[in-house]
Amino acid sequence: MAKRRSTTVNTVTIPGYIRNYDKSFLMCRDIGHNWSYTVVQIIRNRSRHLRGYRQEMQCSTCSTIKYRWINPDGTVGSASYRYPDLYLIPSEIGRLSEDRAALRLAAIHESNLPTVEWVEEEPLVVEA
Ligand SMILES: [Zn+2]
Repeated sequence: MAKRRSTTVNTVTIPGYIRNYDKSFLMCRDIGHNWSYTVVQIIRNRSRHLRGYRQEMQCSTCSTIKYRWINPDGTVGSASYRYPDLYLIPSEIGRLSEDRAALRLAAIHESNLPTVEWVEEEPLVVEA
């Protein structure tokens, strides 16, 4: 990954590690994953009593895989994730939790999504 320097958008500095970040990862980090179930296992013990469900789902945007254990009463027992390479950012490079504003602006300005300029009309002046 080529190093890119930080840039500034609307007075917010976009750190280089965010500018270099995979665009699909930017979207998931900004607005969340787009999950679909891939496999659901029904888990029973040897005497065939229901122990729970193991769900597997995958994000169609970034390919992250999520595993959930669902208890027989429907509550979530645990969850874990398997992220694609380079999804997780080492803390010595940067912390997205501290750069949320820059992340959102990068998702807007660094993505290849179509954009539309909208110019607001002058505000109405209401005379008393
Ligand atoms: Zn995702």
